[in-house]
Amino acid sequence: MERIYNFSAGPAVLPREVLEQARDELVNWQGCGMSVMEMSHRGKEFMGIAAQAEADLRELMAIPANYKVLFLQGGASSQFAMVPMNLLRGKTSADYLNTGEWSKKAIKEAKQYGAVNVVASSEDKNFSYAPTQDHWQLDPNAAYVHYTPNETIGGVEIFWTPDTGDVPLVADMSSTILSRPMDVSQYGLIYAGAQKNIGPAGLTIVIVREDLIGQTVPGTPTMFDYQIHADNDSMYNTPPTFAIYMAGLVFKWIKARGGLKAMEQHNIAKANVLYDCLDASGFFHCPTAKDNRSRMNVPFTLKDAALDEEFLKGAKARGLLQLKGHRSVGGMRASIYNAMPIEGVQLLVEYMKEFEKQHG
Ligand code: PMP
Repeated sequence: MERIYNFSAGPAVLPREVLEQARDELVNWQGCGMSVMEMSHRGKEFMGIAAQAEADLRELMAIPANYKVLFLQGGASSQFAMVPMNLLRGKTSADYLNTGEWSKKAIKEAKQYGAVNVVASSEDKNFSYAPTQDHWQLDPNAAYVHYTPNETIGGVEIFWTPDTGDVPLVADMSSTILSRPMDVSQYGLIYAGAQKNIGPAGLTIVIVREDLIGQTVPGTPTMFDYQIHADNDSMYNTPPTFAIYMAGLVFKWIKARGGLKAMEQHNIAKANVLYDCLDASGFFHCPTAKDNRSRMNVPFTLKDAALDEEFLKGAKARGLLQLKGHRSVGGMRASIYNAMPIEGVQLLVEYMKEFEKQHG
């Protein structure tokens, strides 16, 4: 069977070339007689794979030398706790921007470790936009400022970098990392679950400025201490070896296609195709504010929700899958990460126009 176009929010589509390479190397990696899955994480083969993956990520994102790159487990959800455990550093509160479901989860978890000051919220408009910084109430004594540059469920993306002065900026980049260039030096810490733009689920990447770690709150479990992972090159315990290998292949794939600038151009082109279709339609509706329209996750609704099932059925028949919106918001959501080819988006738009003609 030929591959379908997969619009899942994550785990998400991976580059075909990467999957094919992994297939070719699955049983016998580069003539060593075993699979990457079977290697000791401390053996020279895997140490080489991990070091190359880190080097390629550093190159892609131009990560400065005073930042540690950690390959962890536990998903971005574990970072909701690890961030306050590690970055409160004796302070009593942290600042959080609330732009949707993932911000809310981060806020809820942080409240277990200290006070949370919500600098601004877009809940007043059902999280359909992101408040600009002139509406934020920052606390100069905050331990850090946390925000979610791309809300995967709401499809709200922030394309500018907040200015928080000396207070470290922390970003949950799970669904936007590697989609465009970012100036890492503007951040104290960046984290992301891998299962969107990086690779398979099971790997969580943390990029942290090294002067911010090593001062965990009392009682922090060893595995939740960034310093432990940094001191051990992410090999304090057994890391998610196969996921790191896959991420390494994805980094090479991005590099071969021109890096993050090229990814950005490609992603803008794809997003434009879809948003132009939505704007021209009297049948489909996109709820997000124009300035904050995510290039990665595009939510939209049909004029009549009773047609949702039929829309999904017809989409499936055309090889357009996993378009159902998040259970909390309904409607549709097309996630169009780096590995989604523009042909997939064009096919979706053709189908939408056809569907509108029939039902509009
Ligand atoms: N933050 C964001 C922005 C996400 O999109 C997700 C997952 N969809 C998470 C956090 C949670 O990630 P995980 O499932 O890796 O814990």
